[in-house]
Amino acid sequence: MNGRITIERRGLMLVLSSPSGAGKTTLTRRLLEMDPRLTLSISATTRAARPGEVDGQDYFFVTPEHFSRMVAEDGFLEHANVFGRHYGTPRRPVEEALAQGRDVVFDIDWQGTQQLKERARDDVVSIFVLPPSREALEKRLATRAQDSAETIKARMATADAELSHWAEYDYVIVNDSLDHAFAEVQMILAAERLKRTRQSGLSRFVAKLTR
Ligand code: 5GP
Repeated sequence: MNGRITIERRGLMLVLSSPSGAGKTTLTRRLLEMDPRLTLSISATTRAARPGEVDGQDYFFVTPEHFSRMVAEDGFLEHANVFGRHYGTPRRPVEEALAQGRDVVFDIDWQGTQQLKERARDDVVSIFVLPPSREALEKRLATRAQDSAETIKARMATADAELSHWAEYDYVIVNDSLDHAFAEVQMILAAERLKRTRQSGLSRFVAKLTR
């Protein structure tokens, strides 16, 4: 990789949360396109697929029975009820990616973030994405169009609840410009990757320097 020395390190879990419509999904997609060391955690959900969404790519769309079975088998790292539907992070793909030293990105809500932190605090880096204004949030939700008016209204109400959790996150960014917000997420990721405690290969590297 461009001739640079690579020191072995632990993979980290990068969590992005925000109220629906604050641009988190776009940020996540862009991150994955730009950084081959990142893997997206694909959640399972009992909600219906929206037009354009692909099973196994955006979500694993499952029945409530299937979801309950996964819960019973301890197949989720975390799971929660959002907008009356179940959402959960399948455990195995995340554990496999981390074991390979890859970083995993999660697009999950505050409930899921709390559960991940309880289970793997040292590996979790959490970012909360704020919309630039209430008007912008309303506009983005309304222009989504895939959701019914009723759903949009419910999501606006839920946005307030989601927003109230901003202070539980390690980092908070305001998405007033996608380019700036994206640059900020990249900076956070770069710094977190350099944390001494994550660079598991450092002792060996320094031992060679001092021999
Ligand atoms: P949407 O239905 O708009 O795709 O997602 C609704 C909300 O559920 C978003 O805030 C999203 O971050 C959250 N979400 C998606 N997948 C998961 C998951 O696996 N666990 C949790 N806790 N939240 C999720």
